[in-house]
Amino acid sequence: MKGGWQSTVDTKFLMDRCFRVYVTKTQEIFEWYSSKTSRSIRWVFNYGESLAFFVEDWEKEDERIIRQIEDHVDQEVEYVLTDMQQIQNPFLCLLVMQLVTQQYDKYNSPFEIASFWDQIREARKDARILLTDCLCMETESPCARYWDLWKDEPIPLSHVRIELLPSYKLNCSVHQPVSAVITDAKSMCCMSSQMTAIEICYPENMLELYNFLKAIYLRRAVRFKRCRLCGKLFAAIDGERTEYCSRKYSGHKSCCDIGAVRVYQKKILSNPITRAYNRAYKTHNARIRYGTMTRAEFQTWVAEAKQLRGACQSGEISLDRFEKWLKQ
Ligand SMILES: [Zn+2]
Repeated sequence: MKGGWQSTVDTKFLMDRCFRVYVTKTQEIFEWYSSKTSRSIRWVFNYGESLAFFVEDWEKEDERIIRQIEDHVDQEVEYVLTDMQQIQNPFLCLLVMQLVTQQYDKYNSPFEIASFWDQIREARKDARILLTDCLCMETESPCARYWDLWKDEPIPLSHVRIELLPSYKLNCSVHQPVSAVITDAKSMCCMSSQMTAIEICYPENMLELYNFLKAIYLRRAVRFKRCRLCGKLFAAIDGERTEYCSRKYSGHKSCCDIGAVRVYQKKILSNPITRAYNRAYKTHNARIRYGTMTRAEFQTWVAEAKQLRGACQSGEISLDRFEKWLKQ
């Protein structure tokens, strides 16, 4: 592959297509550029998300898209994927890259696709072991576990190099595909912005991409656990405390949004004083419906009950006395 991420403006440096990935302190960024379709797309994930999504979420969609590519293989494959932005899994760019390189030998395409299937299955199998076993929260030493699982099998890193990228571009909003950043040396030189040296991988196949991410996760010892709501894997960046992932659970609410409410409710319910108060509140509230208590009487009761609840919480009266009063 020809070098670097090239400017779309300066045609002298223009290359046909490019796919690259790099990991910043908090994010994983994938960028795709094709001069043929004049599209440049960037996928941004939170740290640890891309392999967690690869293992847990994308399998069905991958199948659908690969079948779609299979059906259109005698057309220009890049145009089949003109709406790459709709595709969640950036790993699929590799199939397009592989097929495009083979474009003068279309009879070979079925073999390319079959081989891509094998690669994606193999990478997913390995990633599942990496996330659920080697790097899971319960594993005491990921290094020792790595030895058990893979012995001294090296992780070959190909097409990885250090490049300078503008520092201000290295953090951006997640899950919002936007245009890729143009960072060819020439335009960088003119921008005079602060630069950061970063490892960038220009993978040519699934294994190169997967190995690059695997090596980073291992070096940084990213730990994974299962979300208590949806049960899927996620990177426990905040350590032990996080119990929920950031996937959308229902509507606009994510698991961690709903999880936070649940944790609060659980905390409330586990307190015997609040539990006793809540029970009595419901009983008294029902009396309005049965006509044995007026709304005004109920409100007076609530005010008094709240006062006693506070007294009980501060230890002025015992729980026993509070409960007796509630049952009056
Ligand atoms: Zn979740």
